[in-house]
Amino acid sequence: MAVRGTPVVGSATLAARYPFLPGAARWIEGISLNLEELLESPAYAPARALGRDRVRVAVQDPSGESIPPGLETAPEVDRILSFVYARFLVSLPPDLALARRWCVAEAKAAWKSLTRRDASPEETVALAREMGYEVAEGSSGTHRGSLVSFSLPSYLRLSAPLREAKFRLIHQLVQKGRVELPWKDAARVLQEGIRAHLLASVPVAMDASLASRLRDREGTLLETLVAGLPAGSARGPGAFDARGLPPCMREMRQMLERGENLSHFGRFSLAAFLHKAGADREYIVDSYRGAPDFDEGITRYQVDHILQHDGGKGYTPPDCASLQANGLCFRERDDSRPSLCADPALHSPWNYYRRRRKALGAPEPPTPSGTST
Ligand code: SF4
Repeated sequence: MAVRGTPVVGSATLAARYPFLPGAARWIEGISLNLEELLESPAYAPARALGRDRVRVAVQDPSGESIPPGLETAPEVDRILSFVYARFLVSLPPDLALARRWCVAEAKAAWKSLTRRDASPEETVALAREMGYEVAEGSSGTHRGSLVSFSLPSYLRLSAPLREAKFRLIHQLVQKGRVELPWKDAARVLQEGIRAHLLASVPVAMDASLASRLRDREGTLLETLVAGLPAGSARGPGAFDARGLPPCMREMRQMLERGENLSHFGRFSLAAFLHKAGADREYIVDSYRGAPDFDEGITRYQVDHILQHDGGKGYTPPDCASLQANGLCFRERDDSRPSLCADPALHSPWNYYRRRRKALGAPEPPTPSGTST
């Protein structure tokens, strides 16, 4: 594989570009950063301002396309410390919706950086290794045609959350316990690892007095940012209970996961149902990643449209009769005993969800307004 300048993992440059790496933490240790100083010292005001911008931009554009103004030209120390400060900020709200949004945006920004015009495949390999994955340069190709080779356990760990059909193991050539991917796809797989790594790092533990001072200073900004999250972002991870999914919704999700096409009506029904059942926006968007025509921007736009309808109440999920009329009732796959789908009084997938959860001993989900019962 041709080399375009070997990155030096652990250097301030790489730490500034990928501040979530262990190398960045070591770099911070090296300068003996005092958190009190980061919070209070005028010397760190530029880093704090950039940190606020990192969170602000994540809320405004989670695609990772937008870069906080001045971030790329800022001194490396400010870039690294702005990340640290941003992570403190997103850890403050009791709900982790803001943190999740920020993690997605930072992971996407990292992908963008890994695949930028003057990047090299070696940088992707170096970053993956720094994160603890067993990755090596692939067997052939040069520059943008280069391949990156993952050990099977590393590939499985990284690709498990991905719903895009092309990343399923069944579509990969596994040779001698390794999976090779084109460089850009390798960076995409790694993006998921970065997102998971970031998610595991929030909320940051901080002592009560530090949290209180930070809240005093940044409370207004955080309230504005949380209020700016799209409807459905702030519900928290536990609201949706996949165990209660009716066969129709379960099958539609699996169709997407298998890379099969799902009609427009099916896609709408699934998003409307998941929203009513408490799934947050990112979860709903992720459900569509396996679609053969998946486009992140279009999916986010359509999901937002469904979630924001009627002041955030969302659309009413279709009833059983509508799903049956559209060939999307899969009652024969109902494994509830006695079969809930066989009950003529069921009427809607939402009723199935409520009854199934009740049978499983889960608390009654709130009945959202506008939901057919
Ligand atoms: S009967 Fe209703 S809940 Fe059951 S699979 Fe068919 S549409 Fe879904």
